Amino acid sequence: MSGNESRLQAIYQITNREATQVDKPASLKDTWACDVFNLATMEESLSKNAFKEMKKTVQNGASLDPATADIVAAAMKEWAVGKGVKFYSHVFYPLTNVTAEKHDGFIITDSSGNAITEFTGSLLIKGEPDGSSFPNGSIRMTNAARGYTAWDPTSPVYIKHTENGSTLMIPSVFMSWTGEALDKKIPLLRSNDAMNKAGNKVLSLMGEDDIAPLNSSCGAEQEYFLVDSNFANSRPDLLLAGRTLFGAPSAKGQEFDDHYFGAISERVQVYMQDVEDQLYKLGIPAKTHHNEVAPGQFEIAPYFEAANVAADHQQLLMTTLKSTAKKHGFICLFHEKPFAGINGSGKHVNWSVGNSTQGNLLDPGETPHDNLNFLLFCGAVIRGVHKFGPLLRSVVASAGNDHRLGANEAPPAILSVYLGSQLEKVFEDIKDGKLTASDVGGEMDLGLSQILNFERDPGDRNRTSPFAFTGNRFEFRAVGSAHSVSGPLIVMNTMLADSLEWIAEKLETQLAKESDQTKAVVSVLQELMEAHGQAVFGGDGYSSEWHKAAVEERGLKNIPTTADALPAFEEDSVKELFASTGVLSPIELASRYEVYAEQYVLSIEVEAKLMIDMAKTSIYPAATRYLSDLSMASAGLTEMGLELDNSVAASVAAETNAMMVAVVKLATAMEKEDFASTEEHMQYCANELLSLMEEVRSHADALETEVADELWPLAKYHEMLFIK
Ligand code: ADP
Ligand code: MG
Repeated sequence: MSGNESRLQAIYQITNREATQVDKPASLKDTWACDVFNLATMEESLSKNAFKEMKKTVQNGASLDPATADIVAAAMKEWAVGKGVKFYSHVFYPLTNVTAEKHDGFIITDSSGNAITEFTGSLLIKGEPDGSSFPNGSIRMTNAARGYTAWDPTSPVYIKHTENGSTLMIPSVFMSWTGEALDKKIPLLRSNDAMNKAGNKVLSLMGEDDIAPLNSSCGAEQEYFLVDSNFANSRPDLLLAGRTLFGAPSAKGQEFDDHYFGAISERVQVYMQDVEDQLYKLGIPAKTHHNEVAPGQFEIAPYFEAANVAADHQQLLMTTLKSTAKKHGFICLFHEKPFAGINGSGKHVNWSVGNSTQGNLLDPGETPHDNLNFLLFCGAVIRGVHKFGPLLRSVVASAGNDHRLGANEAPPAILSVYLGSQLEKVFEDIKDGKLTASDVGGEMDLGLSQILNFERDPGDRNRTSPFAFTGNRFEFRAVGSAHSVSGPLIVMNTMLADSLEWIAEKLETQLAKESDQTKAVVSVLQELMEAHGQAVFGGDGYSSEWHKAAVEERGLKNIPTTADALPAFEEDSVKELFASTGVLSPIELASRYEVYAEQYVLSIEVEAKLMIDMAKTSIYPAATRYLSDLSMASAGLTEMGLELDNSVAASVAAETNAMMVAVVKLATAMEKEDFASTEEHMQYCANELLSLMEEVRSHADALETEVADELWPLAKYHEMLFIK
């Protein structure tokens, strides 16, 4: 099929498509978590003792003895086989943003050759994927080339159904034989531990005597685009790079703002319900769904859960969105900027920390004492964002997200904290010494609790801040839609751990000198705000004044690209942060830098190759065909004694030539191989390759607006965004 034919075929197919048939959703009561081996299922299928052991492990992370593991494995197998499951698989989260699996059958043969099913505690606990194809950043290049997976009992086992059968999925960590983390789960669990330890110290100093383990929580809002797969199939860039490398803006873009919260088309509605139905079976609390700002863009936000479980569920949600899209004739795009000129997609990561005894520690609370705990934890976050802003920027760095951050649709590439005007004033007053020792005892308590008795959801929510307090949690808004939430959660927990350690040390010293707890807290916070208050900003994060003031007056960093951001992994303060908290060893950190840098370079190089290919084999032929049509028309007219104004042909010829000149420049630039360092290689991609790609694109997009529509080979923006 020639290029333009496949585009026209796509439009025909879509216009005539029949609705996808889905099963009528069963009631929530019947479906909720029906495919999850959770505590409720365990209670039914385990002995009292085994259940008690297992509950301790799930809730407090206590280790499980081998005998109990055998009992749990047997119960799991029985439950799964009863639901038609024949396979099991350890699921793990390598350093790419994807989810990896290795499947095994329960089946073995006995000595007489009969097939029996077997699943022991040791099979449950440990798996051995051939990990050599997963990125490891040189860790396993040595003799120990294999890694292994180990069951994470704190995240529930579940069943995945596919056309080819059902599999028992076991959430796992993935590590090298030498014990280094090769995944995103291990550091997340460690960061939570570090935060728990440090938080416990602070709470103890605050006189709390009953302190349950602290856990972080996460609720992620996932944005995505849906494009009909007929169109996607006609665009190699969407299929291979997940974004359009070419495409002139549509006459109707998002300027009408009529898509946001608008009526969801029936086809999309059916898709969303199908997705939610599957998520409910997996015990994922999908709560809200709606249209987003751009046409063709949507959002799904599950209710928050413990960070480790939420991170696994987030990955599962992305897989479900993708596979269900296929079934409904869509392609689901998580790329941060699939279409130039309209809003891209992000993933807001809502995060808090708390426990069952003190509750949510980022909730101001009702009493002056709760307020003090809250102020300390909130102050710890402010310090963390200020001290580790560049690190926070680096965990949301990717080739895709670079197209979005800093544009007027997403937070800037400068990390600051938004507190809301009331809370900002409290911290300003503390910093300026307005709440000091002179406001002795009771009176100051009163002052604080009055100030802090504010609305839970402050009306003045600032959407231009990358890191905002939203009443009882922080919302990290710079995360890309394709990212795993683990990276951001690891850094937030770890920086919080570091700050809480600092606070504990200061508080201990103060309390030794000062019997009034409130005064001691305020004086620690005053010191904290003097050093780190520059990170607090309530104004317009998109404005050029802020970009200037942030850097020049406040000393914050504006870090526009991944090439600029990733080297943060090599800074001493960052190495020290991860080493002192035990979250990542220097080797693990270095390996991460290597893998992420490689991914950045690779994704730009793949795009550049694809671009050269599409320009040469799709766009150039369409443009020259049009030129030959024009010349034939012109010759015919000359015979008739008429003359065709050749300005169109001249402009098409000029753009075509210019595009091919840029293509040659890009191809030549791609040949360079000798880079002194990873950093230099990334900078080369960010500066040289991307700008040459821009150049190729600008000519190609100009051609799209001149070449006859019927000859144009690639599905156009208005078609992909508006035809449903
Ligand atoms: P908005 O679009 O206004 O930011 P949404 O309701 O779409 O709000 O998303 C808010 C997200 O924050 C939800 O996932 C919600 O469950 C989550 N959330 C609420 N409280 C907490 C908390 N304490 N910790 C983590 N996430 C939370
Ligand atoms: Mg939000």
